[in-house]
Amino acid sequence: MAKCLTKEIYAKLCDKKTSFGCTLDSCMQTGVDNPGHPFIFTVGLTAGDEECYSVFKDLFEPVISGRHNGYLPDAKHCTDLDATKLRGGNFDEDFVLSSRVRTGRSIRGLALPPWCTRSERRKVEKLSVEALSKLANELKGKYYPLNKMTEAEQDQLIDDHFLFDKPVSPLLTSAGMARDWPDGRGIWHNDAKNFLVWVNEEDHLRLISMEKGGNMKAVFERFCKGVQEVEVSLKQRGCEYMWNEHLGYILTCPSNLGTGLRGGVHVKLPLLCKDKRFNSILESLRLQKRGTGGVDTASSDGTFDISNLDRLGSSELDQVQCVVDGVELLVQMEKKLMAEESIDSLIPPTK
Ligand code: ADP
Ligand code: MG
Repeated sequence: MAKCLTKEIYAKLCDKKTSFGCTLDSCMQTGVDNPGHPFIFTVGLTAGDEECYSVFKDLFEPVISGRHNGYLPDAKHCTDLDATKLRGGNFDEDFVLSSRVRTGRSIRGLALPPWCTRSERRKVEKLSVEALSKLANELKGKYYPLNKMTEAEQDQLIDDHFLFDKPVSPLLTSAGMARDWPDGRGIWHNDAKNFLVWVNEEDHLRLISMEKGGNMKAVFERFCKGVQEVEVSLKQRGCEYMWNEHLGYILTCPSNLGTGLRGGVHVKLPLLCKDKRFNSILESLRLQKRGTGGVDTASSDGTFDISNLDRLGSSELDQVQCVVDGVELLVQMEKKLMAEESIDSLIPPTK
């Protein structure tokens, strides 16, 4: 946001409002308060409702292009949720500890978490819980609202990587996403605890498929099935997702537009992470690293959360394939380093 905003753009947009009353100032507050993030490159801009992406287009489009690999204002996004087409996806479990794919979805007609009213937030919760209660068989599950959980139950779910963190991140609080916390927030999960839905954290919905070990193929298959079944159930309740041809699925943070997908693994790379080329290798592979405690943590023991960097302009299938191929290569490099061999021949060309 700070790189893209000019005086001219600000002057043109500062008095405009969406029909929900959201302003440019409110969209950029998180970037004003938080100039940068210690671990990842953040965008400094959030949307308060679906219209922000059109009413404040003069700022959102350059930010989107900067974040998403030069994505153009007239480009079209594509969707592919056919998991049978994924090649590979069974990682070496000596290195890969867990696999996960998540996305976000927003319900059209209701403001997004930075700008929604308490009643809109409760409506999102009610509609989602009703829709989720219709899931059957391996997806059958239960909803656990945050305000009915004990502190200990909440901490346990966070420590086990199932639940979003408490609103400690200034990115969330500055954007206005932590208002009325914990009201209207919660987690739904199936009996096996491998398909989970977060309600009203950073997005209306976050849908997650995860399990221990390296079977990304199974995780992606369950993800595709779950995402499609939730959509059918929400549609039966008269809901529609925020989506358009250019931006794909519309979410709170411009970094998540497109597929909203972050597919990743917790992977041990204690030797490779000491190589000075580690960051550039990740970038060439279009991968992002985080600590295993989530976006606001760094790795202290050589175990990382490695996930796709891109979300817009390529499909779900392509993005998970990128993670599968990239993580395979990283593990191969780690093995070479363990054998005290050179990894020079494996370094991908810089894109
Ligand atoms: P998101 O992009 O889904 O919001 P965050 O970085 O905020 O991800 O992390 C949310 C939670 O998900 C954290 O507890 C994190 O440890 C957990 N998580 C992320 N990726 C994985 C993974 N591959 N395996 C296990 N837990 C994961
Ligand atoms: Mg998060």
